[in-house]
Amino acid sequence: MAMTRRQLLAALGAAAIIPAGVWRLLPSARAAGEFPLELSEAEWRKRLTPREYEVLREEDTEAPGSSELLHEKRAGVYTCAGCDQPVFRSETKFDSGTGWPSFYAPIDGAIGTREDRRLLVMVRTEVHCSRCGGHLGHVFEDGPEPTGLRYCLNGVALDFVPAGEAPA
Ligand SMILES: [Zn+2]
Repeated sequence: MAMTRRQLLAALGAAAIIPAGVWRLLPSARAAGEFPLELSEAEWRKRLTPREYEVLREEDTEAPGSSELLHEKRAGVYTCAGCDQPVFRSETKFDSGTGWPSFYAPIDGAIGTREDRRLLVMVRTEVHCSRCGGHLGHVFEDGPEPTGLRYCLNGVALDFVPAGEAPA
């Protein structure tokens, strides 16, 4: 069976292709003053779990199929695990088959994007929280209607808040 474009993109997105340590040699593209919430590296390390830090602050990618949020079907809001800003709604979540939580649209103004050239074979569009700059995942142009976009996210970078409950 030939690989579909989506499976190929999913495979390329997997951290397994490039050792995580190689990515971390590259300097961060973040500039001081770029985001409303900016903390020192030490403060982020205190606030986040080690895994959250690697994904949100160092742009690591979680293993596909590893997030409990893949199976989350309840109505509610997904917030940035770094700063609790609501970033995606359950209504825009879909099963992409990639092994990463996937959405076709963000909450207005909740995310920013930038070009990511770390995978030398392709240019990807990186997705981060607009409040703290935390890395959430990437967006690809092979998603479902109505946007045609696929926000491919790390579950570890998100927290789920069921409808009717206040964010933690
Ligand atoms: Zn954030």
